[in-house]
Amino acid sequence: MSRILKAYETQFRWLLQQARARRLDQGVQWLVAKARKRAETQAVPLANALSRTYEELAAKPFFNSVRSAPAALRFFCDAGLGGLARWLRAAGYESEWEPGIADEDLLHRAKQVSATILTTDSMLMERRVLRDRIIPSFWLPPALKIQEQLALVFREFGLKVREPRCMSCGGNLLRADKEELRERIPPRTYRWLDEFFVCSRCGKLFWHGTHWRRIAGELAELRNVET
Ligand SMILES: [Zn+2]
Repeated sequence: MSRILKAYETQFRWLLQQARARRLDQGVQWLVAKARKRAETQAVPLANALSRTYEELAAKPFFNSVRSAPAALRFFCDAGLGGLARWLRAAGYESEWEPGIADEDLLHRAKQVSATILTTDSMLMERRVLRDRIIPSFWLPPALKIQEQLALVFREFGLKVREPRCMSCGGNLLRADKEELRERIPPRTYRWLDEFFVCSRCGKLFWHGTHWRRIAGELAELRNVET
């Protein structure tokens, strides 16, 4: 818990700093105390109370204008967030992910492509380049479901669902001619569907099958919570 608390303290501090608040330490401690009280009175885990307190503060119009705003809207997910990377692509955003990537490489690559780092690793957030926002980053509390992670990232960055990108590599999907692809399409699918897409980067073939419909359903829920 102490690591999670520390990560929230960093997030609180950054928000207050952006708002040019004075007496940062007191501000941070006041917010933590507020979350502790909420956890106690509502009998919820402290991590949830911290998360609510952060979101409430960040949603206030004044803070909203100074929240993380990645210019390129491109993300680099840490090694444990492969699922989130795929869903972000389905929602239309470029998001890099490499299994087992070392922290140093992650920082280097993210900087190279001007991406915002998404991570659940509070130790990584302690790195100077992240703490000082030399490389933009956003910390997600561990143990969230992918849908919850996605909703949190959407709220934090004010994202809207866009045209889907290739879930494997993030490339653009181009509408493809069914007849030309006949050999690559399973016969049953060929009979039932007419719309097919090919990734312009990796060449993977996509269609709106059951898996896609489930994802599209989840993304539609995100549309509903967009304000
Ligand atoms: Zn691709």
